[in-house]
Amino acid sequence: MIKKKALIFGITGQDGSYLANFLVNKKYNVYGCSRNINKANISNLDSLLLRDKVKIFSASNHLYEEVEKLIHQIMPDEIYYLSGQSSVGLSFKKPIESLNSNILGIINILEACRNLNHQIRIYYAGSSECFGDTNGISANELTPFHPQSPYAIAKSSAYWLVNNYRDSYKLYICTGILFNHESPLRPKWAVTQKIVSTACRIAQGTNEKLKLGRLDISRDWGWAPEYVEAMWLMLQSNNPEDYVIATGETNTLEDFVNEVFDQLGLNWKKHVEIDEKLFRPSDIHLSTADPNKAKEFLRWEAKYKMNDVIKMLIDSQYM
Ligand code: NDP
Repeated sequence: MIKKKALIFGITGQDGSYLANFLVNKKYNVYGCSRNINKANISNLDSLLLRDKVKIFSASNHLYEEVEKLIHQIMPDEIYYLSGQSSVGLSFKKPIESLNSNILGIINILEACRNLNHQIRIYYAGSSECFGDTNGISANELTPFHPQSPYAIAKSSAYWLVNNYRDSYKLYICTGILFNHESPLRPKWAVTQKIVSTACRIAQGTNEKLKLGRLDISRDWGWAPEYVEAMWLMLQSNNPEDYVIATGETNTLEDFVNEVFDQLGLNWKKHVEIDEKLFRPSDIHLSTADPNKAKEFLRWEAKYKMNDVIKMLIDSQYM
């Protein structure tokens, strides 16, 4: 049987590593792209014992010639574009990097596939940040975008590019509009990582304070390893469509903090300080999701909700 080939841009990141693992287990030949594999942090791939199971190339996503050359060389069946600056907070400090890394890579892939091979199926990593504040209405695939950060503006632009190429050139492209998803492989700057790692140190006896920004914001937190299956399922469908991927459960950041400390037998109020320097210039107050389309058409549903995610994050700190 001929093995399918997948090319993952952003393979060294959280989602890229879990997706590579998922596809290796599905018997794909897995290829990855990093901006510079000699300088990249490959600890995520190492922690999943993937180094010898995937082939990784270096290419600059923002340069068309490099992207086209790589796709031409591999001629994958599926491409996943997960690369880019993924921090909402950082995007206020580095808006140009945020826009370039999230938009130029996908337009280069769309152009390359239009020129080389219309049969390649493409996944784009969209974001729930595009919805902005929905005032309590659960966002689905028809909810209008109101992006509130350079990151969300970049993701929204890419979403419309994907739509445009799908309509204009009949390429098979899907945007996964993913809500927050966590794991031990998330970068250290992620607030969930900061909360769990600091709380675990405090539980072990350190005398430090956990400094946080706004606690009244609400988010939908899921478990990253199961979200990558949804990405793959989108590319196995009969029709290319966009899907909201989330647990459907919304909690405040205060709920998250409370649950972390509670699972460690501590009272969060004794250990947390609010630092206004950590407030973002603009933040989404309430972000809620309606993932029913994925449930109905992809048969995908999140098994793990916030409390399960927290338990697994805490467990990983003691492994
Ligand atoms: P990560 O930050 O873990 O990985 C992204 C990868 O992109 C990095 O490993 C890096 O790989 C590459 N990259 C390219 N350009 C840049 C840049 N300018 N700055 C930093 N890294 C860059 O992200 P995730 O795996 O968590 O997310 C995958 C995609 O899904 C991203 O596009 C993200 O925005 C999106 N997303 C993530 C959500 C989440 O909750 N995790 C929610 C919704 C969307 P290298 O250095 O090897 O090139």
